[in-house]
Amino acid sequence: MGQALAVSYVRVVGVERVTPRTARVTFTGDALAGLMEDRPDQQMKLCFPREGQDVPRLPEPDADDAYGMRWYEAYLAIPESERPLMRSFTVRGYDPGSGLMAVDFVLHGEEGPAARWGRRARPGDVLGMVGPSSAYARPLPAADWLLLAGDETALPAIGTILEALPAGMRALVRAEVADAAEELPLDSPGDVGVRWVHRDRGGSLVDAVRATPLPAGSGAAWLAGEASTVRALRRHLVEERGMDRGAVEFSGYWRRSLTQDDAPTEEDLAWARERAAEQAAE
Ligand SMILES: Cc1cc2nc3c(=O)[nH]c(=O)nc-3n(C[C@H](O)[C@H](O)[C@H](O)COP(=O)(O)OP(=O)(O)OC[C@H]3O[C@@H](n4cnc5c(N)ncnc54)[C@H](O)[C@@H]3O)c2cc1C
Repeated sequence: MGQALAVSYVRVVGVERVTPRTARVTFTGDALAGLMEDRPDQQMKLCFPREGQDVPRLPEPDADDAYGMRWYEAYLAIPESERPLMRSFTVRGYDPGSGLMAVDFVLHGEEGPAARWGRRARPGDVLGMVGPSSAYARPLPAADWLLLAGDETALPAIGTILEALPAGMRALVRAEVADAAEELPLDSPGDVGVRWVHRDRGGSLVDAVRATPLPAGSGAAWLAGEASTVRALRRHLVEERGMDRGAVEFSGYWRRSLTQDDAPTEEDLAWARERAAEQAAE
């Protein structure tokens, strides 16, 4: 990992419920202007304070101020009771004029520290941020058309990918949300067809993608959301629809009944090995 990862503080300046279960939190931060890149799907980790802390404790940079992956060693060196809880998020938007970054928090319940924090966020609250870094960029394969499929947690990335499409580019979006009130506007200069899938009506993302006719020409797919759904989608597109493995970018964003701190399951490891083997073969 040659690329250094920045570790910085961000402070809430605004909170808006853009849907009943989505809090759009706007942050300011001294480091933001230097960190934000002009590309979609920027991922980072947010650090949440432990019980009793107002502000999360962040790892100290080492002597030459370089992190690389060493930020993680520094993070682990913090005593566990003070170590911040870390969760992955996507930059929903950054405005260079105001220097403000928006992040959409899916309010999925009270068990997760990130969702709990998002429900209560107030101006003045402070989080830590690790990244974003282009080391984790997932550039889309070149293609004539795109299929973007995911649940609420993938909508911030899908939103930024759509905003960055070349004018007129064909894109199909299949988005699974709890119910109709969770739909979000998705703007794009592309030629985009969006189909919403509502869980309260028994809709399933896999069924929606299965029912989607794929356009002619070369296509690429981008999949994210609950891990087992993402794997089922990827299997379907590669094995049943004949898409090239390299043209299907996929990422499990959360795992049912497991937190982001829980160890990988056997299935997680098997998929990670398969992905590594494919990347080595490319
Ligand atoms: C690269 C990347 C980018 C992401 N971007 C975003 C983003 O922009 N916005 C966003 O909200 N999320 C995003 N996620 C997903 C988010 O990191 C996870 O949902 C994370 O588990 C939330 O942490 P938590 O503390 O709320 O729950 P955890 O402590 O991790 O989990 C607690 C419980 O909640 C369940 N759970 C977790 N997420 C969900 C969910 N979405 N729906 C239902 N149950 C859930 C778990 O299965 C577990 O039982 C992203 C994930 C990745 C990997």
